[in-house]
Parts: sequence; structure tokens; C-alpha cells
Amino acid sequence: MAVVNMIPLFVCMARNNFVGHAVEVGFDIWNLFHRWIGRVVVLESVAHMLAWTVNKVDQAGWEGLNEALRISHFYQVGLMAEIALILIAFLSTSPLRHANYEFFLSMHQLLVAFFVAGVWWHLYIDMLPQMVYCNVAIAIWVADRVFRILRILRNNIRWRRKGLLSNVAEVAPLKGGDAVRFSVELSTPFKYRPGTHAYLYVPRIGWWQSHPFSIAWTSAEESKQAVGATQMPDKHHEPQKTTTPKKTTMHFIISKHDGFTRALYDAAQSAAATADPEKLENGCVLKVLGLVEGPYGGHHSLDSFGTVVLVAGGVGITHCLGYVRHLLHGYNEGTVATQRVKLVWVIRKSEHIHWVSDWLEEILRMPLCRRVLEVDIYITRPSTTISGDEWAGHGGLVNVHVGRPEFEIVLEKVVRRRIGAMAVTVCGGGAVSDSVRAATLKFVDQATIDFSEESFTW
Ligand SMILES: Cc1cc2nc3c(=O)[nH]c(=O)nc-3n(C[C@H](O)[C@H](O)[C@H](O)COP(=O)(O)OP(=O)(O)OC[C@H]3O[C@@H](n4cnc5c(N)ncnc54)[C@H](O)[C@@H]3O)c2cc1C
Repeated sequence: MAVVNMIPLFVCMARNNFVGHAVEVGFDIWNLFHRWIGRVVVLESVAHMLAWTVNKVDQAGWEGLNEALRISHFYQVGLMAEIALILIAFLSTSPLRHANYEFFLSMHQLLVAFFVAGVWWHLYIDMLPQMVYCNVAIAIWVADRVFRILRILRNNIRWRRKGLLSNVAEVAPLKGGDAVRFSVELSTPFKYRPGTHAYLYVPRIGWWQSHPFSIAWTSAEESKQAVGATQMPDKHHEPQKTTTPKKTTMHFIISKHDGFTRALYDAAQSAAATADPEKLENGCVLKVLGLVEGPYGGHHSLDSFGTVVLVAGGVGITHCLGYVRHLLHGYNEGTVATQRVKLVWVIRKSEHIHWVSDWLEEILRMPLCRRVLEVDIYITRPSTTISGDEWAGHGGLVNVHVGRPEFEIVLEKVVRRRIGAMAVTVCGGGAVSDSVRAATLKFVDQATIDFSEESFTW
């Protein structure tokens, strides 16, 4: 059973999970399954080993057991796989996993290699019939890696007369600190779906590391007939309909933590300190080789809900903005059921508004925005250098508040004025998600509400 269960175990960890794609379930759920199936595999394989041990000791005593382990490759590699599996289980516990994710990941991959090699050899020596399941699991792992490499090549490598060229990412530290904007032009145009994320590789900063980030915004440079258009067509600007995007740029907002993100932030800051302000393009100070793998996810569509509430905590805004733009565009085109969109963004510092202010402005300029959208920004620790006053010009579409939101009050107002079924989605730290979930629960008897969360971690 342990060997058979290696198949779903490996399916669940694949970034290119075609089953997940078909049933429209995101990677974080599969990751949860991966962890639980992993625990089942550990229990099954420990039971297998204990059953054999008890039997052996019963038949030949402890000397017999020692002898078997000393002379038999079959048992030695089985024991190697068992030890690797137990270590994997121990290292995967949440505190250890989050303490140093990169260390966990490297050790996990190394131990998995020992585990799979041990199992395969164990089965191969006696040509056991379970071999086929092990081979299928290995094939799933190989296929995922191949697809990942193909995605990287498709997104990042282009062939020109000069030879092979790869993407150069532009990194700009953002006003107010704590984050950078990372923009990278893809070699192949792609169709954006809200809620998608991609893995970024910046070898100069993080060697082989790849980190997931939500695609906060996309822009596309159209063919010569239409200039400077955004990727989503707009019925009030007809030329966009007839053109195909030639270049797509993905934009990410990366907030700093302690590892890769801090190193990237520090590199952008030190480049900014020495840069000549007159030569800066779009505020970009650092150009680095930046590879994008993806997009992944984006299975959760909000198109069929009459009322949509999106709550973002801090950098969680990257998950929400794409939905807002998509729903507004859909409203204009008549392709979504959504009539009301409420965006609630909770930030610590006033300056964090600058992370996405230009994109927010672009959204607020979209046709019929006033009919559909309402934005509430809550600043929990406002500074004196910036206030929300600059947003007052948007005719009451953006309300800036000081302090934490009372989500129950916010939701109550939306529930009262709702049209059709409601979707509430939250992307933020644990506290914001918990409060929104608890507040949503209070209204499930009064309205049809679909609740979803994105936690930015797994
Ligand atoms: C689907 C998704 C979308 C995300 N979108 C954004 C975004 O738009 N902007 C943003 O700033 N952050 C986003 N994140 C979070 C971002 O991936 C992590 O903050 C980043 O990987 C931390 O890197 P670090 O080395 O600085 O982390 P560390 O300081 O070492 O750790 C900080 C936290 O990040 C987790 N983490 C570290 N590396 C990874 C990894 N490779 N994969 C998953 N988790 C990791 C750790 O477990 C820990 O909880 C997203 C995460 C996910 C899963």
C-alpha cells in the first residue's frame, strides 16, 4: 500500500498537476493532500517494517535480524528508504518547515532521492510486482520536472540573430520601503487569469531557488496598429480588439522577509543608492537575469457571483488586483455576472499605498468603474508624511480609514446591498484571514456566500 500511495503522493506535489487543472483545485489544497498522504505512507511503511521485524525476531532472534541486515542488500536498501522516510516526516513538521524553508526543501529533495532509490532497489532485487507503482511515481516526478523546464524555456528564452537571449528583470524598490516591484517581459505572450502565480528564479540572488509570487499586474505592448494598450481589451478603445499582444510583461510586488526576498530587496536598495536618478527607467535600478516559471493556479473564478468582496492584507493585494480588473472589464463587456465589487485593503503604513497606486489609478479610470467598484483602504499605523487625502479625488470610490477594519460591519453593509450570490475572498496574514472567515460565518444564513482564502504559504 505504501508503494501504491506513492502515486497520489507524487501527483499532489507536482506543480504541473493535470488532475488539479482538470478538477480546478489549486496547489495549496494538493499540497495539503500531499502532506496527509505522506503521513499515511510513513505509517504504512513503518507498519510493513515492524511486521517484518517482529516476524524475523520471532523466527531467528535478534542475531538473526542483525545477520539479515548485515548480509542482505534487499533489507539494507529497504532500511535506507525507511530511515529517509522517517527523517522526511520529522523535517516536514510545520515549525521546522517554516524555520528555514530553503534548508527544508533541499533536505526534503535529498531524502526523497534516497527514499525512492531505496524503494526501487528493494523492489528490483526480488523483482516484486509493486515495482510498476514505483516506476509510475518516478515517471510523474520526471514529467513534472520536464514540464517545468519547458515552461521556463518558453517564458524566458528567445532566439535572435545574436543567439539565445534570456529575460532581464527590472527591479525597483518601492516608496515606503519593505517591498520591490519586479517586472519581467516574457518571450512568449500569455493570457492572464486572475489568481495566478508564478515561480521566480533570480540566480544572482538565490542561485537555484524558486519562489512563488502572485502575478499582480500584466501589461502588453500591442502590435504597431495599437500603442500602449493594457492586456485586457476595453470596448471603448476598439483597436485593442483586433491586435495580438507582442510582448507581455508580468509585474510582481515582493515584500521582504528574511531569505531570498530580503537579498533581492537589499540588492535593489544598494543599486538605488548608487544610481544616477536621470538615467533611471521607470524607477528601475537593478537589472538581473530573472526567469519566470508559470503561470500556475487561478482556478477560482468569481465571474458568476453578483457581489464580490476581496479583502487583502498587505502584499495580499497582489492576489486581489487582477480579480478587480478582470471583473470590471467583464462588467463592461457583459461577460460576468458581477454587479458589485468591494475591495478592502489593510496596510500597516500609509506609504504602502505606493506599492500599487498606479495600477489602482488605472482601475479607477476604467469605464463604469463608479457603478461597480468601492475601495476601502485601512491604514493601521499611519505616518504623517502621507495621508489618504490624495485619493479623495476619486469621487468617493476610495475611502481611506485609520485603524483596523471591523469586518463584521464591512460585510454587513455589503450583505444588505448585495446583488445575487456573494463571494468573499481573503488574502493576507493569518489574523486578517481569521477575522474575515469569522465575520463571513455570521452571514451564511442570510446570503449565499462562497468563501475562499489564499494564504501565501504552504
Ligand atoms: C501562491 C503564493 C503566492 C505568493 N505571492 C506573493 C506575492 O505576491 N508577494 C509576496 O511578497 N509574497 C508572495 N508569496 C509569499 C512568498 O512566496 C514568500 O514570502 C517568499 O517565498 C519568501 O522567501 P524568503 O526566502 O525571503 O522567505 P523566508 O524569510 O525564508 O521565509 C518566510 C516565509 O515564506 C515561506 N517560504 C519561503 N520560501 C518559500 C517557497 N519557496 N515557497 C513557499 N513558501 C516559502 C517560509 O515557509 C516562511 O513562512 C506568495 C506565496 C504563495 C504560496
